[in-house]
Amino acid sequence: MHEVSVMSGVVEAVLKELEKYDVKGVEEVELIVGELTQLGHEQMEFAYEVITRSTALEGSSLRIVEEKAEVRCLSCGYEGGINRLELDDYHYSIPVLRCPECSSSVEIIKGRGCTVRSLKVIQ
Ligand SMILES: [Zn+2]
Repeated sequence: MHEVSVMSGVVEAVLKELEKYDVKGVEEVELIVGELTQLGHEQMEFAYEVITRSTALEGSSLRIVEEKAEVRCLSCGYEGGINRLELDDYHYSIPVLRCPECSSSVEIIKGRGCTVRSLKVIQ
């Protein structure tokens, strides 16, 4: 499961960060997950609960905020969101990594990462 390895990395980084401060515990961890990561939010939450057991993060909640993809066009300079290909039969949509204006190749500027935005700590 991809989510488990990503979550392990996140938890490890947060625990390392916490070592620098004198806190009693953590209430909430806010995580920004890019829509292009293909990470399942439910799987992430489940992995978080399992991985944080017996650590300083045990019992804290995970808040996942999805970050929409943004691209920059290499030909016309367009910057912004992308189109999605709706697959109605599957109730699923696929992000199209092409410029919505001129269909040229684009560079991804947002939506591919997974970062911790904030920690609510108990002092
Ligand atoms: Zn373009």
